[in-house]
Amino acid sequence: MSIDTTSAGAGPVGGADDITVEAEAPEAIAAPETIAELRRELGKVFLSGRTATLDWRETQLRGVIDLVQDNEAQLLDAMAKDLGKPAFEGWMTDLLTVRDEAKDALALVHKWVKPTRYKVPVIAQPAKAWTEPQPLGTVLIIAPWNYPIQLLLAPLVGALAAGNTVVLKPSELAPATAALLAELVPRYVDPKAVRVVLGGVEVSSELLAQPWDHVFYTGSTRVGRIVMEAAAKHLSPVTLELGGKSPTIIASDADLEVAARRVAWSKYLNAGQTCVAPDYVLVERAIADEFTDKVVEELARNRDKAPPTSIVNGTHLGRLEGLLENHGGHELMRRRVDPVARTFAPVVIVDPDPESEVMQEEIFGPILPIITVASIDDAIDFVNARPRPLALYVFTESKDTERRVLTRTTSGSVCVNHLVYQVATTMPFGGVGPSGMGGYHGKAGFDTFSHIKSVLRRPTKGDLKAAYPPYPRVVQKVIRKITRWPS
Ligand code: NAD
Repeated sequence: MSIDTTSAGAGPVGGADDITVEAEAPEAIAAPETIAELRRELGKVFLSGRTATLDWRETQLRGVIDLVQDNEAQLLDAMAKDLGKPAFEGWMTDLLTVRDEAKDALALVHKWVKPTRYKVPVIAQPAKAWTEPQPLGTVLIIAPWNYPIQLLLAPLVGALAAGNTVVLKPSELAPATAALLAELVPRYVDPKAVRVVLGGVEVSSELLAQPWDHVFYTGSTRVGRIVMEAAAKHLSPVTLELGGKSPTIIASDADLEVAARRVAWSKYLNAGQTCVAPDYVLVERAIADEFTDKVVEELARNRDKAPPTSIVNGTHLGRLEGLLENHGGHELMRRRVDPVARTFAPVVIVDPDPESEVMQEEIFGPILPIITVASIDDAIDFVNARPRPLALYVFTESKDTERRVLTRTTSGSVCVNHLVYQVATTMPFGGVGPSGMGGYHGKAGFDTFSHIKSVLRRPTKGDLKAAYPPYPRVVQKVIRKITRWPS
């Protein structure tokens, strides 16, 4: 066991003693006591009050902005190495999103920290009542590999704006990006308050054994269960940003040209390895063939004209090939798998068996099942018969259809007539039921990492003895009267 203690170079906050645990060398995995020590140290830093001031928070948010802006080329290279991410897409999905998240928080955090006044009921008067947000303490953020910068640093923005000390655990499946972030984070963000820990499942497990003030996890539903179970031992609160099968409903009055282009774009983006990608399509029978032809055309155009993102590793490539076995549907578009470049060309499956694996498991790749339904109500029933999705999409020109889908289905988020872009806003983002719990982005990120403390203050002057037992009858009468209790 050895601990790699790197000293950070020059940057906005200067150098320091970051502890990193090397991803690739199993012998470099930190011993439990080391991680326990790290947790204790960050707890002490939090209690010192270092992270509480507005000034500290704003400085860190500026640091996050500078981190992604100053190191654009290096960050894009690292993601290209890990995932073959095309540069413009990587910039858009991982750098711009983080920059904008941090910019928004920087502009608004001075408002978010302000107390909120509450009305005091007559029985508790005279008094002042208010809530004030307070940082939770020391929090753990665990990120996946598919948007390895965004999904680590966007939660960090909320945690910093709220004034916490933080441990960041990037995914070992994007090792070049993880190593670069471990080097950059302590140069741009207070290294005494924010640490990056590298490593695989063993390190994640050791981290999860600690008593965190909050655990923020993004990844699969399977691991989400493990995270919640580990956190339960300490009653640590959790935010779980999970996955699942996000449906897309195409109504017969939809603009099919636009719908096909947008569905194909979002399925091709990051090779379908997007938590809010359209997992499958439910299309009304009247326009099913027309939509299918158009979406195949659009997917082929993407495949032939735009560089593909790679599938993260051989295991996932094999998993996707497995999904093409025994689906019981009609396959369109030729299978093209390159095991060396780890690329997988888009495949459309028309009317697969709803019980087949491709319709049971989250696809997380460029396979698009299209299921024909008789009506919008049938599409809604199909969605409601399955676990609540992270995202739901509907293409329609009718406000009635839109309203019917919004009212009768439950999902983490909805985008009408487009896909994925709901995530690009500062609206709260998260799942519901098996697709996750809690949310972040914008103020929701600040709230997730804050405790909203209620405070009531009463003056000591004019303390009436009659307000204490044995409550004289006349006082009881007066109180009942002023509270307007029917006599
Ligand atoms: P992953 O394998 O990179 O795992 C995510 C993190 O969990 C990693 O840091 C890893 O070290 C840790 N981990 C893995 N196994 C663990 C274990 N047994 N115990 C403790 N920690 C463990 O990523 P993934 O899970 O393959 O990510 C893909 C999934 O994430 C998909 O289901 C996708 O939908 C979901 N996802 C959700 C969101 C969202 O915002 N809701 C975003 C991206 C991905």
